Amino acid sequence: MSKIIEQTERTKLKRIPKRGSFDRETVYKILDEAFICHIGFSVDGQTFVIPTAYGRKGNTLFVHGSAASRMMREMSKGIDVCITITLVDGLVLARSAFHHSMNYRSVVIFGKAEIVTEESEKNDALFTFTEHLIKGRWDDIRVPNSKELKATTVLKLEINEASAKIRTGNPVDDENDLDLDVWAGVIPLETKAGKPINDNLLKENIAVPDYAKDYKRV
Ligand SMILES: Cc1cc2nc3c(=O)[nH]c(=O)nc-3n(C[C@H](O)[C@H](O)[C@H](O)COP(=O)(O)OP(=O)(O)OC[C@H]3O[C@@H](n4cnc5c(N)ncnc54)[C@H](O)[C@@H]3O)c2cc1C
Repeated sequence: MSKIIEQTERTKLKRIPKRGSFDRETVYKILDEAFICHIGFSVDGQTFVIPTAYGRKGNTLFVHGSAASRMMREMSKGIDVCITITLVDGLVLARSAFHHSMNYRSVVIFGKAEIVTEESEKNDALFTFTEHLIKGRWDDIRVPNSKELKATTVLKLEINEASAKIRTGNPVDDENDLDLDVWAGVIPLETKAGKPINDNLLKENIAVPDYAKDYKRV
């Protein structure tokens, strides 16, 4: 598979294209750090953008959900979807309102999803999905039974038409504003886990696993 994702008319970045990337590894890295995507799709002329979790295995993105969910039902038909993933790395405070910005890494993927029917592939997708959220968890938990597998729709989408966009660094102020007595700079932002809280119904003598104690995204 080529290291560079082929650019299409739909993925051509227009504003500040130098922030764009079509490097497959760059796209994968963003996908692996984030865990929420927004899926855009249209039904009868109405557009919906729904947030959901996902997992990645190789070049395949998996999403899952209740078979009753509109998003899963519609996506199962193989309609065109647009999936966006966003990581916010900082608030960029410029000297002028106009130049305020954010540092970010984001990915936009276009494609059509396909339903996963084969039980072992479905199970593998759910493994990918769980491990994407928290690595090491799958080995500890009860795996889905066939009734649960039946109640879950799993969809897969190949990452063949995608773009990444990355903004880093300082504000870009107008030359004339550099003399203003206003603080300017970046407030870094990151996803940080708090201390795990035991479930009220937790049996005695079960320690918090390391993957929960030391949870972080990268
Ligand atoms: C957290 C965050 C905050 C942002 N805030 C603003 C803002 O306040 N105002 C603003 O104008 N823009 C903002 N952007 C940038 C915004 O996402 C678009 O890049 C911007 O609107 C320019 O779009 P365009 O008209 O050039 O391209 P479009 O015509 O909208 O897009 C063409 C193609 O370029 C690619 N593309 C465009 N944007 C992205 C992206 N962010 N990530 C990956 N691929 C992309 C897609 O493949 C898309 O189909 C923000 C982005 C992020 C992630």
